[in-house]
Amino acid sequence: MRTLPSYLVGTWQQPQTGEGDRRAELLNPATEAPLAVVGAARELDRAVAHGRDVGGPALRAMTIAARGEMLQKLAKKLHEHREELIEIAIASGGNTRGDAKFDIDGATGVLAAYARLARELGDDPWIVEDEAAPIMRTSKIRVQHVLLPLRGVAVHINAFNFPAWGMVGKAAVAWLAGVPVLSKPATSTSLLAHRIAELIVASGLVPEGAFQLLMGSAGDLLDHLGAQDVVAFTGSAGVGALIRGHAKLVAHNTRVNIEADSLNAVVVGPDVEEGSELFDLVVRDCVIEMTQKAGQKCTATRRILVPQERLEELRSALVERLDEVAGRTGDPASKGVRMGPLATAQQLADAREGVARLLADDGVSIVRGDPARAEFTDVPAGKGYFFEPILLEATPERAADPGASVHALEVFGPVSTLLPYDGSVEQAAALVAHGGGSLVTTVYSDSRKFTAGAVAALGPFLGRLVLADEKHAGGSMAPGCVFPQGNHGGPGRAGGGAELGGLGGLRLYLQRTAIQGGAGQLARVFGKKK
Ligand code: NAP
Repeated sequence: MRTLPSYLVGTWQQPQTGEGDRRAELLNPATEAPLAVVGAARELDRAVAHGRDVGGPALRAMTIAARGEMLQKLAKKLHEHREELIEIAIASGGNTRGDAKFDIDGATGVLAAYARLARELGDDPWIVEDEAAPIMRTSKIRVQHVLLPLRGVAVHINAFNFPAWGMVGKAAVAWLAGVPVLSKPATSTSLLAHRIAELIVASGLVPEGAFQLLMGSAGDLLDHLGAQDVVAFTGSAGVGALIRGHAKLVAHNTRVNIEADSLNAVVVGPDVEEGSELFDLVVRDCVIEMTQKAGQKCTATRRILVPQERLEELRSALVERLDEVAGRTGDPASKGVRMGPLATAQQLADAREGVARLLADDGVSIVRGDPARAEFTDVPAGKGYFFEPILLEATPERAADPGASVHALEVFGPVSTLLPYDGSVEQAAALVAHGGGSLVTTVYSDSRKFTAGAVAALGPFLGRLVLADEKHAGGSMAPGCVFPQGNHGGPGRAGGGAELGGLGGLRLYLQRTAIQGGAGQLARVFGKKK
């Protein structure tokens, strides 16, 4: 079986084979067929130095426009291999074709969006952030902020659920900022990340040292980082907390961005009536957000807040649509399958345990789905890591309880809970806030009062708030779509991080320096060149 090498210090390196060097076998999660093996790399201090000393200077020697062109060409290159990448995602990630496209097109989409942004940023070694501001009425001294690339390396530690988008999306932003990348994909789905890395390296588009790939565990990588480096982590809250508290990173105040768990919600406004296009949109979005990538999305909907008087109709509409998906859950390589398996045996065990924990609260029950179901489309019974869509429901009392498990536990699978509420913005905001900070929440309403109230009351708990109304229902995107123009990240439980969001995303890799000087002097350095 193929062993997947890391790409470090300019060469493809097979994993170490010494005592204590762990190997992991990558499996097709639908069939459990082995696909490849990964192991650990060593001498990561050399890789960090290579990024800093070779990749960083090479990137900074390019203009911002040249870096943007590099992103554009890379997007094209990856797009040329789209079909091959989709096949890998289906085999190694349990993705349906639609899931795979979501990940892979998301990756090229971020490259293209940041390539476009590059055209607006000028050709200086810095980005001027604002106008020079006077510091005193009587003085000609001004202060102006500029953004400059950090001189370290961007370490990207990614989650298993988006091996393409996670790796490429993060890298696009760092590269445009002028910072070299050392990327560590999550092991279980790293076959896709590895193939993309091969394409990036073979393309010759990214300067040597500006892209390195670390397969297998992170080892002692973080021990080698310092004050000019950046860590961008996506994954579970537990590992995120470990990384944030890493002694070396704390000692150097190394910049750390954490994207973690999230108990995303939807809020059905009191004015949304059955039969309206908006009601149908709620149902469509909830089903997409529960079942796309088998619910293994950080932005998937976990809590569905519905006014008590609408509970019955929403429940029955969701059950009907989820039944359809459940009937077409199976091997994603088979035609007509709508939902594939979870990514690993561990994810399956965790999802089953998670549902059991949600059900352990009084007043929570299953309204559709069987966590123990073992027969699925085109797979031998008991094979693969399948988990059918599970819809739960809480009583209004349990829904309002800040200590309820539904507000604390992310079950990373096709699992969501109906939470009846009284239809007021105040209660909706309280329930959303019980989740401790989320990536995204969607509010469905045609009422300006309800929507504006929701922006003010829910916004502080969210990285992104999606507003949906009847007029725009036809063109509305499901809330789990993350666009490079919008901030991605959320407060509290969601990790407190911020990625993407146009220029905002670059800030993670740039030092914001206030330049203080005379008005004429600043104009000579930063003003438009003749
Ligand atoms: P995970 O188990 O926390 O792993 C995430 C990454 O951290 C993997 O690359 C993993 O490597 C690595 N890792 C594990 N232990 C480490 C350590 N001690 N030091 C350094 N790195 C370490 O998360 P996951 O299961 O892959 O992903 C699922 C979670 O990610 C979910 O909770 C989901 O909500 C969250 N997520 C959040 C976002 C977001 O943007 N907020 C996006 C996607 C996913 P190995 O795989 O080699 O162990």
